[in-house]
Amino acid sequence: MNLPYDPEHPPQEPPPGCDRLLWMIAYQVHVDHQPGPDGRCGARTCRIGSFVWPCHAAGLAGRGFLGAVGAWAGLDNGRPASRWTSNVPRHWLPGGAT
Ligand SMILES: [Zn+2]
Repeated sequence: MNLPYDPEHPPQEPPPGCDRLLWMIAYQVHVDHQPGPDGRCGARTCRIGSFVWPCHAAGLAGRGFLGAVGAWAGLDNGRPASRWTSNVPRHWLPGGAT
């Protein structure tokens, strides 16, 4: 599998051929849900719950980037949504989340 971006530092502009809307949504969630100096997610909505980073939203952003590149990167996105991450190496997801 060959991703057209660095999963640790995805670019704001989607790689060519990506689902642009999905990428832009994932990027905004990615930007909003970054770790703070105390190791917790810096997003206000996560601060209320004292979520340790990577929070659930950060994991969703990572999956959104993968979904945006989808099939042409060799991912089988025809699988049921609940099994999507079984297709993806854990180290590609923020914090190794599933
Ligand atoms: Zn968060």
